[in-house]
Order: sequence, then C-alpha cells, then structure tokens
Amino acid sequence: MALVNIHFLNLQNNYLFADIAKKVNAFKVTHPKADIISLGIGDVTQPLCPAVVEAMHKAVDEMSDSSTFRGYGPEQGYDFLREAILKNDFLPRGIHLDKDEVFINDGAKSDTGNFQELLHWDNFIGVTDPIYPVYIDSNVMIGRCGSFHDGKWTNVRYMPTTAENGFLPELPKGRPVDVIYLCYPNNPTGTVITKQELRKWVNYALKNDALILYDAAYEAYIRDPKIPHSIYEIRGARKCAVEFHSYSKTAGFTGVRCGYTIVPKEVSVSTFEGERIPLNQLWLRRQCTKFNGTSYISQRAAEAIYSAEGKKQIRATVDYYMENASMMLSTLRGLGYECYGGENAPYIWMRTPDGMTSWSFFEALLYGANVVCTPGVGFGPSGEGYVRFTAFGSHERTAEALERIKAWQE
Ligand SMILES: *Cc1c(COP(=O)(O)O)cnc(C)c1O
Repeated sequence: MALVNIHFLNLQNNYLFADIAKKVNAFKVTHPKADIISLGIGDVTQPLCPAVVEAMHKAVDEMSDSSTFRGYGPEQGYDFLREAILKNDFLPRGIHLDKDEVFINDGAKSDTGNFQELLHWDNFIGVTDPIYPVYIDSNVMIGRCGSFHDGKWTNVRYMPTTAENGFLPELPKGRPVDVIYLCYPNNPTGTVITKQELRKWVNYALKNDALILYDAAYEAYIRDPKIPHSIYEIRGARKCAVEFHSYSKTAGFTGVRCGYTIVPKEVSVSTFEGERIPLNQLWLRRQCTKFNGTSYISQRAAEAIYSAEGKKQIRATVDYYMENASMMLSTLRGLGYECYGGENAPYIWMRTPDGMTSWSFFEALLYGANVVCTPGVGFGPSGEGYVRFTAFGSHERTAEALERIKAWQE
C-alpha cells in the first residue's frame, strides 16, 4: 500500500495570494468597470536587460550547432559563472571563496527549501516573524515543526520583528535553536541588518553550534554602504552559515531561473557521536543525485549581468524600482502613515492606521482606492497590523495608485 507522507497533510494551506485574488474578484463582480492597481505582487515587471537578452540569443545559437551544443552541464554549474560570481560578488568585499563553494541553482526558492534535507529531522528551527513562507513549510514537509496552534507551529521558534523592537530579532533565549533562517534585506518588511547586529547572530551560531541559512535575495537593493551584502562579511560566518542568492529580483530572472548557493567548506554539522560532517560535500552529493543543473542558457544569461554593460543595465532597473519605493515612502508618510523598509529593499511595510487588522485595511484600500496591497498577517503572526506594498510596478501605475490613496484619504 502506498502511504502518504503525512507531514504534507499538516501543511497549512497558504491561502494568502488565493484569498487576495478571491477578494479582488468579489470586488470586480460588483465594480466591473474599476481599474485595479496591484501594489501587492511579488514579481518583477521590467524586461530583461539587453546584455542578458544578447547572451541568451548567443547561447541558443550555440545550442543549435552540433559543434557548440551543450547537453548536461556540471551539477554545480559552469565554471564561467562560478568564477564571475567570486570575482564580482565576493572579492570586491574582501571575501575569498573557492569555486567549489559556489553551487549554481535554478532560483533561491529551490535551495532555501531543499537545504533542510541535510539536517536531522528533529533539529529545532528559528525564524524571524513575519517571514517568507518557504522556510517553515519546507521543514513542515519532513515533520520538523510539530503541530499548528493559534497561527504558530509548536516546534518553531518565532522571533518577532516589529516596529516595537526596531525590526531587530532578539537572540533566542531558553532552548537553543539549531537552525536559524535569516533574510536580509527582508521580505516582507523591507528592513535590513547592520554588521553589528549580524555579528550577534554569527556569534550565537558559533557558540551554540547552530547553522544559519542566510537568504540574500534582495542584496542588490542595498543602498547604504554600511549594510552588509553577504553574511561572510562577518568574521566566523564561513564556519556556520550557508548563503542563498537569486538573480530573480536582481536582474528580472523570475522567469529565466538562476541563482546560487554558497556552502563554505568550513561549515559542518555534527553526528550524535560528535563527528563533524562538512555540509559542502553533503550538498554536492545531494545535488548530484537530485539536480541536473541549471540550463546553459540561463547560466550564460546570468554571466552577462557581470559584464560592464550588464552591471550598468541591471543597476538601472533596480534604481527604477527604488524610485518607486521612495515615491511610495514619501507619499505614504506625507499622509501620516507609519512606514518601514523601502530604503534598501523593494518593499514598504506599513502599519495599518487606528489598529485596523491587515485584512480590514486591505479591504478598505481595495474598495476606497482600488489599490491592492498584501496583508502582513499572511507572512506570520507578527505581521498582523501591517500591510506590504511592493515597488515592482511601473512608475506610472505606482504614481497613479498613490494619487488614488491620497484622494481616498482626503
Ligand atoms: C523572491 C525571493 C526569492 C527568490 O526566489 P527565486 O526562486 O530565486 O525566484 C528568495 N527568497 C525570498 C525571500 C524572495 O522573496
């Protein structure tokens, strides 16, 4: 008899985006002429930059000729891309990594979700709250999170990040956490972490023999030169941290699919007997079994963003989104709203006025201004009382949405 993995049955249906769609559709039925603007989408809207498009065309041409055709590539990715990553993303920050510590992926979602496979099923995980849902759900799937009560998993340490603590999670007290997920710049709050604060986490991990899984998907949005782009800017991190990168938000690769994961050779975890097992070898073994590499065309596309032209072009797109963010911040703050993020990340995290719930503000905004936001509570219990706006729209639509919010408020 084929039995189901019952842990999958424990997953809470993440109705967030489905619920949003349902409520938007209900509104459309009664207001068929309304022109709705979404500031809720988590996808980019601007096209691939010319350097990337050119590289992809060239790669396709190579694939069409038997003398340059590429079949299966190395599971860890092509050297041309791994070398470009080391040279451009790490060396300029004084971080010396080896090519074998870079694993090209098909996007950070896969690897942030899959990496937990390497860890014992009853490791205790800690997450900042609110949070990108993949981290918890992928752990639920193998039975690591306990049961779900009152909006929380019993075997997960939630570390609230709210305006009250300046969006700085506190180090866990009591039972030590074995695996810590951090995402900076943060989705959904748009907030960042300083080197000093990040150092506390690295020291905690070293002291407690914990592993940090660091999601740097929004690193390209950092403007403040003091904010770290990589956890490896912190001394000791290469002993305790794995880092995930994605070209999705950096270069509009949400549909192209490419990113990379850094697994330093020094990072190891323990057996019950105390033997140290390096995660680099284990991850390589896992990838060689379950992953046949990212497409050659996507890897050539990623390589192109490190050319002089490519760098300039992707920077222009990131700047474009960040102009939306600053327009949103100034308008919303001008209207008296309490806003966070948006300075080093493409997200604005706004406190709802008058203690409204996330969902009631969502509905009020939809009906009052025909603008869609994302209710913060959808990202975790500490997201209640906030909504998220994204900067990934066009200037025109973002400006219009803001005009409507203004008119609605006045
Ligand atoms: C968008 C996003 C990613 C990237 O996902 P891809 O699979 O690379 O498209 C990773 N982490 C967070 C927090 C994100 O918001």
